[in-house]
Amino acid sequence: MLRTIAAFDRIGEENAFAVLARATHLAAQGRDIINLGIGQPDFRTPEHIVEAAVKALRDGHHGYTPAVGILPLREAVAADLDKRFAVTVSPDEVMIMPGGKPTMFMSILMLGEPGADILYPDPGFPIYRSMIEYTGARPVPVPIREENGFAFSAEETLSLITRETRLLILNSPANPTGGVTPKAEVDKLVAGLARWPDVAVMSDEIYDQMVYDGETHVCLLSYPEIRDRLILLNGWSKTYAMTGWRLGYAIWPGKLHDYARKLAVNLYSCVNASAQYAGIAALTGPQDAVDAMVAEFDRRRKVVVAGLNKLPGVSCATPKGAFYAFPNVSRTGWPAKPLASSLLDDAGVAIIGGPDFGVLAEGYVRLSYANSTENILKALDRMGEFLSTRKAI
Ligand code: PLP
Repeated sequence: MLRTIAAFDRIGEENAFAVLARATHLAAQGRDIINLGIGQPDFRTPEHIVEAAVKALRDGHHGYTPAVGILPLREAVAADLDKRFAVTVSPDEVMIMPGGKPTMFMSILMLGEPGADILYPDPGFPIYRSMIEYTGARPVPVPIREENGFAFSAEETLSLITRETRLLILNSPANPTGGVTPKAEVDKLVAGLARWPDVAVMSDEIYDQMVYDGETHVCLLSYPEIRDRLILLNGWSKTYAMTGWRLGYAIWPGKLHDYARKLAVNLYSCVNASAQYAGIAALTGPQDAVDAMVAEFDRRRKVVVAGLNKLPGVSCATPKGAFYAFPNVSRTGWPAKPLASSLLDDAGVAIIGGPDFGVLAEGYVRLSYANSTENILKALDRMGEFLSTRKAI
């Protein structure tokens, strides 16, 4: 019998990948499946970015790079943050990561241990809780409420902080709710954190360019008073339709940058060199593909919200960011997970049940509108037919 450590039995998963596998399996059997389950843009990576990677390979960039990433890319990240948010970041604080996820993985690994509390949004990205449980820290859900527009409540978040709290995880625009936390609320939260100088903050801003209805993204780097304890998570996956490239970045405060560098050296050495050159092209090249993609998501967002609100027993708040809708399905009589799996098996529509995003997410499902308007409309029709003809189980 292999004697492995118990922590591995506590690692969770991201059910979106299981739903994707099931949807792919059904489609391979000839079923007509519409996938509104997976959180990745249905666009191609813009051509000039692909070309930059090809050129890097042709130019011989085949070797290891520094573990923290190549300097021109770290400079490009710093310049981009300065341009978009007027914040000063040194390239020495930047680390190129293999996607967005490793930043949350490493942060939680650095700060979580038995006896420590880590606050995370619920509903929220499932990997936060999974990793917290892995470390043996106590996961403390911060409720993200529909009646609050799926924004963080500064007051409620601050009320959950104790002397045991080591890390607070923030995410806006948010997965799975599409919620955006307004600046006034972030201001209040940061002001309240002054009482808790030992609490680190990890701000997951991977959807920062996907905001609608005139919202502007609030980057946590804009608050100098927490810069010495702020970890910023961001990357190319969503903004540039680059989920499969595995390219992200973190801004690490103080000694955490060196901890992260050492973890990289121990684990993966460096991020794929050609992807890093693609990352420079993405940040420094034309942004019209990003603008066009976000405008298209905005159009679909309106279609999906209007359609969902017409379904029996369903109500959907208008998401202000990302590319997800998080409708309330409690009045359908269906528990959310059986509803999601029956919709996939019987109606050919892949969505994710709320409980896959947290202990407080029963009564909701997540739809990703990273699919064509035509498919979204077809999926809404199928959901309407299903809900009007099928009894809850
Ligand atoms: N953070 C959030 C909130 C996400 O939704 C995702 C992906 O779905 C990630 C991070 C991870 O991004 P990546 O694919 O770059 O690891």
